[in-house]
Amino acid sequence: MAGPVPLRPDLTVLSGYHSPQVEVEVRLNTNESPLPPPPEWLDELRDELGRIDFNRYPDRDATALRAALAEFHGTDPARVFCANGSNEVLQCLLLAYGGAGRVAALFEPTYALHSHIASVTATKVVRGWRGPDHRVDLEVLDRVIDEAQPVVTFLCSPNNPTGRAESPEVVAHVLERAPGLVVVDEAYGQFSPWSALDLMHSGVTGVERLVVVRTFSKTWSMAACRLGYLVADPAVVGACETVVLPYHLDAMTQAAGRLALRHVDAMEARVALITEERGRIASALAELALESWPSAANFILFRPSARAATDVWQDLLGASVLVRDCSSWPGLDNCLRVTVGTTEENDRFLAALGASLDASRR
Ligand SMILES: *Cc1c(COP(=O)(O)O)cnc(C)c1O
Repeated sequence: MAGPVPLRPDLTVLSGYHSPQVEVEVRLNTNESPLPPPPEWLDELRDELGRIDFNRYPDRDATALRAALAEFHGTDPARVFCANGSNEVLQCLLLAYGGAGRVAALFEPTYALHSHIASVTATKVVRGWRGPDHRVDLEVLDRVIDEAQPVVTFLCSPNNPTGRAESPEVVAHVLERAPGLVVVDEAYGQFSPWSALDLMHSGVTGVERLVVVRTFSKTWSMAACRLGYLVADPAVVGACETVVLPYHLDAMTQAAGRLALRHVDAMEARVALITEERGRIASALAELALESWPSAANFILFRPSARAATDVWQDLLGASVLVRDCSSWPGLDNCLRVTVGTTEENDRFLAALGASLDASRR
């Protein structure tokens, strides 16, 4: 064959998922925690590294980590599956339940990786659209689910990039209506007033098809580690174990996650601080008379109505402040998304934003 080997034809339309990684002083574009994990955690992890048998494969069942997570959530380790970031958890779900001839339903605008990973696993994506306030309309939901009969329905609560948490009523409604798994991505779960995990041990119809996905990348300040997990019926855990690569989760990551769970108080303190800062940014955006949406996460979506979002993005970058330009994403016309940073970082962002808007008024 002459020339490059052709890609799987259904992959050629996918461009991958990348946030530009520019060198800046204030990085508010990928919703990470602005604060590191506690120093005690790092000390414990250093000690633990000395005890790992590096010549041996890691515990394939991540027994200790799953036990610690099960205890944290008051559930059974058989209901917990861990992987390299919640993205790998989602990929395992779609490898096990998606694939050719099967459908995943989701409601845009939402986390781009849901549709991306569905496509990579050859799962057909059927989309519903949120209303202008970014709520999922129940009529749209019913129509999409009834027509598509999805094997997986994705919800994201709080939803990235809009910030809104789904209500317990909406999740319960989807569980009742959807024929397949209902995957609630709770990457920002600790910022939200409620969790779909609260439904897990309730008598809600369809609860055995509920899958809650969490990550250590945001509230736990451990994005560098790549650790995520799901809580679901043991049959779902078994399905993921069928498709995941053997020994996929290395011993260091398993230890890092297990030790992090000793520092719940520190995590909750970080969440409280960021929530307070989120309120401060929201008030400042309102004072600047910018359209923005209420957030139950560590980021805020806003629209600098008087100016092109891309110009504002560029001005911010000029001030060494990087936010996410969502203006080309479907349903997010002229929108930017800012991650809540430290007090100093948020001050830098607000000052640069104010200056950008002022400049345009002159
Ligand atoms: C950040 C984020 C994740 C995190 O993915 P990891 O692979 O765990 O880092 C998952 N879902 C959503 C909605 C996110 O915003």
